[in-house]
Amino acid sequence: MSFRALAGRSCPKSFGKWSIVSLVSANLIPRRAWREVLSKTRVHHLASGDMLFEQDASAESLWMVRRGTVELFKSFFGEKHRLLYVSRGAVLGEAELFGREPRFAYARAATDVIAYELPSRYAREYLVRFPAATLALLQASTHRSRDIAESLVEQLVQRNLELQMHQARLDPQIRRRVKDLEQTNEHLQQLAWVDALTGCHNRRSLEKVLQMACEAGEPFALAMFDVDHFKHYNDTNGHPEGDRALQTLARLLQRRLRANDVLARYGGEEFCLILRDVGPEVAPVVLERLRSAITEYPFPYEERQPLGDFTVSMGLAMFPGDGTSPDRLIKSADERLYEAKRQGRNRLIGGSSARL
Ligand code: GH3
Ligand code: MG
Ligand code: MG
Repeated sequence: MSFRALAGRSCPKSFGKWSIVSLVSANLIPRRAWREVLSKTRVHHLASGDMLFEQDASAESLWMVRRGTVELFKSFFGEKHRLLYVSRGAVLGEAELFGREPRFAYARAATDVIAYELPSRYAREYLVRFPAATLALLQASTHRSRDIAESLVEQLVQRNLELQMHQARLDPQIRRRVKDLEQTNEHLQQLAWVDALTGCHNRRSLEKVLQMACEAGEPFALAMFDVDHFKHYNDTNGHPEGDRALQTLARLLQRRLRANDVLARYGGEEFCLILRDVGPEVAPVVLERLRSAITEYPFPYEERQPLGDFTVSMGLAMFPGDGTSPDRLIKSADERLYEAKRQGRNRLIGGSSARL
C-alpha cells in the first residue's frame, strides 16, 4: 500500500485525538485482529495518582487509555513540569517504541483510569502487520509532540508573566530600600565631615579644605577663635547650657558668612574660619565685625561671665603672607589667639595689625 493511499484514503482525516475506537471503526485494524491485540494486553485499573510509567525507565510496552485521564509530566532539574493531559483512546509510548528509547516522561492517572498495556514485541509485530494503523499512530504522535510544545510555550509565557508581575511588585520595595541606603550613606558622610553639636565642618573637614585652599594658591585668611572663660560659663550655668551657647555661636557666625567661607569646630570651644579671596587689609575688618556681633548678641547668663559678656578671642593668619602650609597657618593663628588671650581676651590679633 502506498503512503498516499494510506494517508488519503484509509486514514480518518485526523488522528490528533487518536482513538483505539476510531482505528477499529475506520477499519485500520480488522475487528478480529483487534480482539487478538486485546488478548495480548494486560488490563490495569488505576486510581488517581497511580503511575503508568516513569521517566527514563526502559520502555517495554505500549499503553492505551481505555477510560479516564492521564497526566504526562517531565522532570527537569528536580522540578516537575506538566506536558499534557490525554484521555480515552490515547496511545502512550509509541515514540519510545519507534525510537527504542527510555520513557520520555512520567505518565500518571489523573482520574480513575482503565488502561491496556501491550508488550513491545507484540506491538512491533502488529505495527508491521497493520501499516495503516502505524501511519495513523505516527500522525497522532506528531500531533501530540506539537500539543506538548504548545503547552510548554504556554506555560513559559504564563511563568514569564508571573515573573514580570512579581518583579513589578518587588520594584517599589527595592526602590525604597535603595533610598533608605542612600539616606544612611548620606548620614554617614555627614558624620564624617560635620560636627554633630553645631552642624558646621568638623576638624577633619577643615584640614581637607585648608589643604585644598593652600594648593589652590589664592589668598585667604585663617582665623582661630576660642570662647573666653568658657569653663566658667559651664561651671556657672551647666554643661547643657554651654552646649546651647556653642550652637548659638555657630549659628550666629554662619548667618554672617559668605557661601564659600568655611566655619569649622576645631575642638571644644575652639573654632576656625577660612575666608576666601581676602587680603590682610580686609580680613581683620570682617573678623572684627564678627567679634562685635558676638559681643552684642545677648547670650543667656552672659552677665555672669568674668568679662560681663559672652566673648571670643581671635588669632588671624594670612595665606600666603603668614605661611603656605596648613600646619604653618594653624600654628601662626594659634599663637596669635594665645596672644589675644594674654592681652586680655575679647580681641583679634593678626592681619595688618599682626605684631607677632
Ligand atoms: P579661656 O578664656 O582661656 O579660653 O578660658 P576657658 O575657660 O574658655 O578655657 P579652658 O580651656 O580652661 O576651658 C574650656 C572649657 O570648654 C572646658 C570644657 O569643659 C569646655 N568644653 C569643651 N568642649 C565643650 C562642649 O562641647 N560643650 C560644653 N558645654 N563645654 C565644652
Ligand atoms: Mg580653649
Ligand atoms: Mg576658651
